[in-house]
Amino acid sequence: MKLVSFGEYGHERVGVVVEDDIIDLNAAEPELPSTMIELLAGDYLGAAEQGARGAAALGPDVRFKLGSVRLGAPVPRPSKVVCLGLNYRDHAEEQNTPLPERPLLFSKASSCVIGPSDDIVLPADSQQVDYEVEFAIVIGHTATKVSVEAAYEYIAGYTVMNDVSARNVQFEQKQWHQGKSYDTFGPMGPYLVTRDEIPHPHTLNVRLVLNGQTMQNSTTSNLIFNVPYLVSHISKIMTLYPGDVISTGTPAGVGVFRKPPVFLKPGDVVETIIDGIGTMGNRVRR
Ligand code: ZN
Repeated sequence: MKLVSFGEYGHERVGVVVEDDIIDLNAAEPELPSTMIELLAGDYLGAAEQGARGAAALGPDVRFKLGSVRLGAPVPRPSKVVCLGLNYRDHAEEQNTPLPERPLLFSKASSCVIGPSDDIVLPADSQQVDYEVEFAIVIGHTATKVSVEAAYEYIAGYTVMNDVSARNVQFEQKQWHQGKSYDTFGPMGPYLVTRDEIPHPHTLNVRLVLNGQTMQNSTTSNLIFNVPYLVSHISKIMTLYPGDVISTGTPAGVGVFRKPPVFLKPGDVVETIIDGIGTMGNRVRR
């Protein structure tokens, strides 16, 4: 099942994609909640699937064409976005850095999360804004100290993130929080694809195309710390809540390590693509 959050920024409603349409779940089934976090926290995925099945009979007030409404991030305001630094073998190689022994965690402010077609806005204090396509895990159930074996049960599904980063700020400061958290630095989407549709999350092609040119092209088989390990490891440090996002790190090809470096500029279009999940296209502006 492909889930979306759609509608105006700050007022997104949860929907299911059926063919080329979005079904407004709460409008179709009033006992279902209207937001993604409530849907996940209330364990309504089964009910959502059933609601979507009856969608053929639904009228135009409940069923919209994809593309006719704005898509928000699947989880527009997660309680936290936990990110991984250096979690792809090819990304470690491009920096001549040894593979880490333990995951390096950092956080993006959840206020930077935007939808899959929203604009990335360059801040005034950075000329070095960079892109990072990432495979992201969305938590389905509250997870505290879960084992690697049980970890998948706590995952609702997967989505695409662009971990936009102001490199001058990131590298000037010991903490990465500011450089990673400017408003609009967290495009996410287009869909939350439920876990059952992606039974092999370590075989996915991950790419980023900037103005038509492929800049990153790798696969999740290059992840150093894999999906169940990350959920288990992080849940032993901090409780993960429904809708929380773990962005698993970026592969090789980011702008800052290119010769010469490439940074985002007004008018650029950044496409981030993961097979089996979908494609985001975000325009860049000042
Ligand atoms: Zn990243």
